[in-house]
Amino acid sequence: MTILARLIFMSKETISSPLSTWAQNIAPSPTLAVDAKAKAMRAAGKDVCGFGAGEPDFDTPKFICDACAKALAEGKTRYVPTPGILPLRKAIAADYTSRGFKGIDETCVVVSPGGKMSCYLTILSLVSPGDEVLIPAPYWVSYPEMVKLAGGSVKVLPTSDADAFKISAEQLKAALSPRTKLLILTSPSNPTGAVYSRAEIEAIVKVAVEAGVYTLSDEIYSSLTYDGAEAVSPATLSDEAARFVATASGFAKSYAMTGWRLGTLVAPKAIASAVSKLQSQMSSNCTTFAQYGALAVYENPELAKKSVAEMRAVFDRRRQMLCDGLNAIAGITCYRSQGAFYLFPNISSFGLHSTEFAEKLLEEELVAVVPGIAFGAEGYVRISYATSDEILKKGLTRIANFCSRLAKKS
Ligand code: GLU
Repeated sequence: MTILARLIFMSKETISSPLSTWAQNIAPSPTLAVDAKAKAMRAAGKDVCGFGAGEPDFDTPKFICDACAKALAEGKTRYVPTPGILPLRKAIAADYTSRGFKGIDETCVVVSPGGKMSCYLTILSLVSPGDEVLIPAPYWVSYPEMVKLAGGSVKVLPTSDADAFKISAEQLKAALSPRTKLLILTSPSNPTGAVYSRAEIEAIVKVAVEAGVYTLSDEIYSSLTYDGAEAVSPATLSDEAARFVATASGFAKSYAMTGWRLGTLVAPKAIASAVSKLQSQMSSNCTTFAQYGALAVYENPELAKKSVAEMRAVFDRRRQMLCDGLNAIAGITCYRSQGAFYLFPNISSFGLHSTEFAEKLLEEELVAVVPGIAFGAEGYVRISYATSDEILKKGLTRIANFCSRLAKKS
């Protein structure tokens, strides 16, 4: 097994260990593993182009940092209610209501330590051992592991670049079983950047609701759409949908706040209460003064809008440059994403396993990408363009050199 593969899959190896079956059977996050490896290589003096983790290369907007610093200076350092400070929950509820969510108030909102926890606690709140969870692939790396931790079983709904990485309502219908409890939808998608149209989402959610299946809609990238694509929230489609959809999001990707660990959940009251109850036993409230930083987003809507628009414009420019550049490389075809900050090029023509491709690319050209298999899709790699134009251009040249050598060999 190669070093990168070991790093990604090592906990799946059978070893004699004092650790629980949970700890042994859960894979470490491959996205974070690739990022850690790239950062370690850089710290050791290697000129690595890190396209691993999806982390905006911008700084958190100053008005948010200032509000957090003010709260800290004012001594806002104590416990607050587990689901979050009231003004923040009220502001989130008002914001979602303005975006078409119905019947939402602060009791439907939980602020969790990161979007990841919003997803995990929602899964824990809905999934019992034996329940089945439908996950379209390519999927974000953590969903299957979260379902496993809840004792549920995962049914993967495969897609490919040929169908724009989207499931159809018919595919969903065919996958349903009496054990199906939850569907996880991510639009815009990590890792593909695909965005479901309103009609597509309507058809999918109709099937789920009619079957009494809940949907966890991960909308962490909803403010990052391009080419006129619209991120449609399933919960806004009908009163019926609102009862069956839990919407996870957070501040990390829209406001470059990855390290703040502030995720959100907006869900029917019963689900929000269950998530809050679980959180009260696991982590309590999110960092109090950080929540005041997030509150500044709603207290300064113009500044917030401006900073999101500026970042989105930069991401969009990079997306186009990188997508065109990748498609110009012989042997690579790259689906034109419409959201998030990832591209998911097809590298299957080179005949290498995606892990081997990523491993060799890192070793030979010092470019870190995440193998598609980590997202349940072989034949692709994920490239995050949440990094500078200079690094993107350098990385693109290196990928082109690498692929041209591979093409000569085959
Ligand atoms: N969500 C980001 C990614 O996919 C950050 C790393 C992680 O949490 O997986 O790269």
